[in-house]
Amino acid sequence: MIPYGRQYTASEELDAVTEVLSSDWLTQGCKVPEFEQALAEYCQAQQAVAVSNGTAALHLACLALGLSEQDELWTSPNSFVASANCGLYCGARVDFVDIDPATRNLCPIALEQKLKSSATKPKVLVVVHFAGYPVDMLAIAALAQQYHFNIIEDASHAIGSRYGDSVVGDCRYSDLTTFSFHPVKTITTAEGGAITANKPELIKKLQQLRSHGIDAAVDKKESEPWAYQQTALGFNYRLTDIQAALGLVQLQRLNEFIKRRRQLVDQYNTAFSDLGIQSMQEKIGVVSAWHLYVIDCGGEDKRLALFQALLAENIKSQVHYQPIHLQPYYQKKGFQMGDFPNAERNYLSTLSLPLYPSLSDEEQRRVIDIVTNVLRSGGAK
Ligand SMILES: *Cc1c(COP(=O)(O)O)cnc(C)c1O
Repeated sequence: MIPYGRQYTASEELDAVTEVLSSDWLTQGCKVPEFEQALAEYCQAQQAVAVSNGTAALHLACLALGLSEQDELWTSPNSFVASANCGLYCGARVDFVDIDPATRNLCPIALEQKLKSSATKPKVLVVVHFAGYPVDMLAIAALAQQYHFNIIEDASHAIGSRYGDSVVGDCRYSDLTTFSFHPVKTITTAEGGAITANKPELIKKLQQLRSHGIDAAVDKKESEPWAYQQTALGFNYRLTDIQAALGLVQLQRLNEFIKRRRQLVDQYNTAFSDLGIQSMQEKIGVVSAWHLYVIDCGGEDKRLALFQALLAENIKSQVHYQPIHLQPYYQKKGFQMGDFPNAERNYLSTLSLPLYPSLSDEEQRRVIDIVTNVLRSGGAK
């Protein structure tokens, strides 16, 4: 089977995991801090805080920024549900801002219009670098200054992407950046995630909330050397040392992974250049780590025909994303069809083709042939 995405692991990962398994510490040893340091260095951030998954990263990011019942969180409807659910976990109201059809990212112009016309303003905006393509952070950051909201970058797709001379994760234009290391993402720790940050008070909160709200750094009294103190209500969102060891090897492979992903994207783009399927192109100053290769099939019927033709050859494509506001849970909150038309239109004809480092040229050729056949015979220009 050729999936739309999958992990790459080799003997180095096996060795790293095995080493931890035969050590004294399966969790809370030295591998997590080592992984955090390597990740922070890669992202040029002050600190990385590793957590149990990307959803936990978003939840803690919201909590660290103080999001609560009185507040609103706005995000893109073209994302995984976790980008919005994190606001609900904090009791906040969640709302959405429509996407720019060209990048499929939250549209800064739509955001500005909504900020101007809306009676309520967000406390937190979660932007999602969809498919790895960086959001226009300069425009977003200018609006954040003007309207006083915090920015979380959901970089689950975008580790290694660049925006001008900024690396995604350096938090130059945001408060916090979150990552997921699920096996379909660019690097994996099986389950896992992280938050990068520069502000000491945010870093401290994240570290505390990740581990039950217990302060690691409280003064130990001589009479109670065993004591620890819980000063906030936190969670057990820790990553294990087994996972961190896996992540450390994966981080070393990251640039090689991105190189292969970009090569595969170039090959798709070249093959489809006369098919009129509007794959994404990088603007000047933008380098995408390409988590997904997304095409516009030109309609619902053609998309279904292509999905099925691929599946008949054991190739599993995927759709990113069903708009979050149309999920039954969100419709019950009052959202409906027509609320965010660009995200809805995107959903009708979009398809993500296989893209992962170990996809061979020959396998990609099979995908290209099927896409070309189906979309040509379907009358695509
Ligand atoms: C994968 C993903 C998440 C959630 O990450 P998990 O590690 O699966 O919890 C959140 N946001 C986006 C955009 C994702 O792709």
